[in-house]
Amino acid sequence: MFKVDTNTRGIEEVLYDKKLITSDQLSAIKFEHVNTGKSIESIIKERAYVSNDDFVKALGEAYGFDYAPLSEEQVDSNLLDLIPLSSAKKYNVVPFNLNGNNLAVAMVDPLDLQTIEFIERKTGYKVVPFITTEKNIERILEEQKGKAIGEEISAAMEEISQTTLKLDETSGELTDATIRDAPIARIVGMILETAVKTGASDVHLEPGEDVSRLRYRVDGILEEKRKLPKEMHDSIVARIKILGKMKIDEKRLPLDGRFKVQVGNTSTDLRISTLPTIYGEKVVIRLLKEEGAAFSFKDLGLRGLSLKRLEEAILKPNGMVLVTGPTGSGKTVTLASALSKLNTIRVNIVTLEDPVEIRVPGVNQVQINPQAGLTFATGLRAFLRQDPNIIMVGEVRDGETAELAIHAALTGHLVLSTLHTNSASGALPRLLDMGAENFLLASTVNVVVAQRLVRKVCSNCAEEYDPPEEVVQDIKRVVSGISNAMLAQNKDPDIMKAVKKSQENKITLKKGTGCDKCANTGYKGRLGIFEVLNISNEISHMTLENAPAAKIEAIAVEQGMITLMQDGYLRVLEGATTLEEVLRVAK
Ligand SMILES: [Zn+2]
Repeated sequence: MFKVDTNTRGIEEVLYDKKLITSDQLSAIKFEHVNTGKSIESIIKERAYVSNDDFVKALGEAYGFDYAPLSEEQVDSNLLDLIPLSSAKKYNVVPFNLNGNNLAVAMVDPLDLQTIEFIERKTGYKVVPFITTEKNIERILEEQKGKAIGEEISAAMEEISQTTLKLDETSGELTDATIRDAPIARIVGMILETAVKTGASDVHLEPGEDVSRLRYRVDGILEEKRKLPKEMHDSIVARIKILGKMKIDEKRLPLDGRFKVQVGNTSTDLRISTLPTIYGEKVVIRLLKEEGAAFSFKDLGLRGLSLKRLEEAILKPNGMVLVTGPTGSGKTVTLASALSKLNTIRVNIVTLEDPVEIRVPGVNQVQINPQAGLTFATGLRAFLRQDPNIIMVGEVRDGETAELAIHAALTGHLVLSTLHTNSASGALPRLLDMGAENFLLASTVNVVVAQRLVRKVCSNCAEEYDPPEEVVQDIKRVVSGISNAMLAQNKDPDIMKAVKKSQENKITLKKGTGCDKCANTGYKGRLGIFEVLNISNEISHMTLENAPAAKIEAIAVEQGMITLMQDGYLRVLEGATTLEEVLRVAK
């Protein structure tokens, strides 16, 4: 009775005929389709009755396209060169078979006529589209990329064996190192270039008993790229150590070094560390993107009054700006952004960090080294003799550092630092606990920022949904806590929109349903949520009276501070993140 169109067999009928869904499920799908007007395809996806593979196969059948599993036997890898890897990735296509003038192309969307036309123009063949999953395409393209590295390394190895022969003939006339280095240098270059191009955060080169393993960490997942012959391991490590200005002959102690590579227009800082293992030195290369520092406060997620107050605070000639939050909450990036904003030729900026995570060009960055006696405290003492205007201290961990930082702020320096507290209002009591004098503290701190990182809803698979009533009430309660003082001074239209939305009767939120782009997590990318505590006269006075954090927070909110939780809830209302994320990090 729910049949909509009797002329064609829809995907739901195909799935039912194949016994992949039950008749109840079939009715439910049709019922929802008629009631909501949502497409049958999106309903089936949402309800997740079948695997993505089965879905795509059935979709192909419904539209009259054959399914291409892109198995090893099916794919003629020579044809992959017909289209550049980047285009194949962009359009989600893989040409896999050629029969006369007919080029079989696996596509995620075989109805995409523009792409078909593009391939026909590019290759001169007639395209016969097949349907396949995004996963299948990704797998083939990944393999292809892996092969490219593999071939390059094989060629370099071939060259090494030949040059060794040449060496014998010339009886050592040419030095071993110069000849052997060229191909090894190329391999190291390839390894690094691949790391930058694939967006890896780390490269691991691990010696084993027989072979050496090369692994890349991409989006948090460590993946093996290939195995290297054991005899090459030491030469590759030596080359990396030379680049990192590390001691080549020291193989029994862990070492660190760093250098920079340029791939295309991107310059990447590399931090190298070695670790002696029973099979040789293990090397980990961490890639630090220089552009990381160029984030503006807005890009980080700061806005409205929070943004205004932080910007004003860092432009003051002296005083302290503190950023608080647990490890991994993005404090370093916020400070680096502040430094790059302040970084002009007229000021002398010095930093003490552990470790230096983001390089800011033109800033004197120093890595602390406690074994050598260079701690936050000793470094800070030395800094004050170096005539700096702005000092960044990685973290205030103890009373001595706190005292020195306050002293620096009192004597005409702008001091930026981080502190481990959960909220902005907890920072002042924390410093008092460390032994800071309350009257000094009250006159030095400009603002305290507390921040967290939440995962962003994947824009590719985001869908609106109606949250349960208790969630709606919770949102209304938290957002109504935003003070009028804040709303009066706020200049951000997005905040106003979100606040208005929270006052409506019916509230819809967004969540990711999971897709190939977000590894089925429903999230992609991250965003900062912030509270910025402005140290007003009144709060300054409260510090003198050793007021507890809760009391400081209450007054700060009255004076226009938006709390972490409130900022997070606004982002939930905007559909940028989910309530689960905000509660995970801010509770
Ligand atoms: Zn997604």
